[in-house]
Amino acid sequence: MLHQACTKLEELYSEMVDLRRDFHMYPELSFQEMETPRKIAAYLRKLGIEVQEGVGGRGIVAKIYGKKQKSPEEQDKTVAFRADFDGLPIQDEKQVEYKSRVPGVMHACGHDIHTAALLGTATIIKEYEQEFSGTVVLIFQHAEELVPGGAISMIEDGCLNGVDVIYGAHVFSGLPLGVIGVQEGYMLAAGDEFQIEIRGKGGHGASPHESIDPIVIGSQLILNLQQVVSRRVDPLQPAVLTIGSFQSGATYNVIPDTAQILGTVRTFSEETRTGIEQAMQKIVQHTAEGAGATAQFTYRRGYPSVWNDPVETKRVEAIAKQLVGNERVIRVPPQMGGEDFAYYLQKTSGNFIGVGGGNSEINATYPHHHPMFDVDERSMLQIGKLFLGLLAEHFVLSDEA
Ligand SMILES: [Zn+2]
Ligand SMILES: [Zn+2]
Repeated sequence: MLHQACTKLEELYSEMVDLRRDFHMYPELSFQEMETPRKIAAYLRKLGIEVQEGVGGRGIVAKIYGKKQKSPEEQDKTVAFRADFDGLPIQDEKQVEYKSRVPGVMHACGHDIHTAALLGTATIIKEYEQEFSGTVVLIFQHAEELVPGGAISMIEDGCLNGVDVIYGAHVFSGLPLGVIGVQEGYMLAAGDEFQIEIRGKGGHGASPHESIDPIVIGSQLILNLQQVVSRRVDPLQPAVLTIGSFQSGATYNVIPDTAQILGTVRTFSEETRTGIEQAMQKIVQHTAEGAGATAQFTYRRGYPSVWNDPVETKRVEAIAKQLVGNERVIRVPPQMGGEDFAYYLQKTSGNFIGVGGGNSEINATYPHHHPMFDVDERSMLQIGKLFLGLLAEHFVLSDEA
């Protein structure tokens, strides 16, 4: 089945490009997607696929039921694939005919590629419905780019009900086209943000003894917080604590009342994440109290870390090697960036896969979220073929066993 299905996907390439460019020209921001889900649903319905709209807000869940009679010893298996479809608040600066027509909004992460690739793949899977006996769930997710993200509400709305395994692929401009990046265990970090409000007592710059200086306390606090990662966290557990903003005061000779500190924390293990939050809480309180000030500490959790099931990583790796050759499948080092695909992997086994889309010949080398970002559209075929390969593995090859 696989070779033929991949050929059929290739024949669909120009249609996938048209779909991708349409999404690219009309991007929509996270939690504001209106037309994109409507287009996705219309495309799937035309294929005769069952579609549920408004899942967890603006998400779409489509199901393709295999029609092959299953043998008695065979179990009903449900395999899910996820594509996200939101854009970013970035002005598209590329000079290509398909550049964004929406001022200030852009598909600068490749989610248009993911969605068009999954729609093309859905066309082929539907054509093969007589050939397998399980169920394929296609999850088109809104709002990946903005915390709390669309995944969590789609899961609460039941998109993973009955799903045995889930796969998601992300095109990466930093990986050349034709290269596939896999990783077992932790792949992407949990990303949290924090805010600290220090309240002292303002006064004249010439009479510091009559005031409680929030700038000095804030400076001390920033230094004290450096001990969290260096002295409190297990050195074998990756963690980052970065202060991104320290604001206070406005002029030369006035001690202000307050200071505000903003920052981010990135971790992989849940234990480290909780440990850092607790350690920060204590340091903030003690530093402020010791100086006679008060401090309010707010810690907001973003997405958890992406953890890839090792068994599924081996499966993906084997299929990827068949697709692009052994030397073009690499282990991507874990990164401190995040993805809300993490929530699906907390609920079910699965894998998040990096698919190369970089190509210097077409200027597709800029990083994600850059105003010049683009990727080679042939990455859609790689994503589609990987997904078809995974299906064949779950439904056809396992039948022969
Ligand atoms: Zn992104
Ligand atoms: Zn993304």
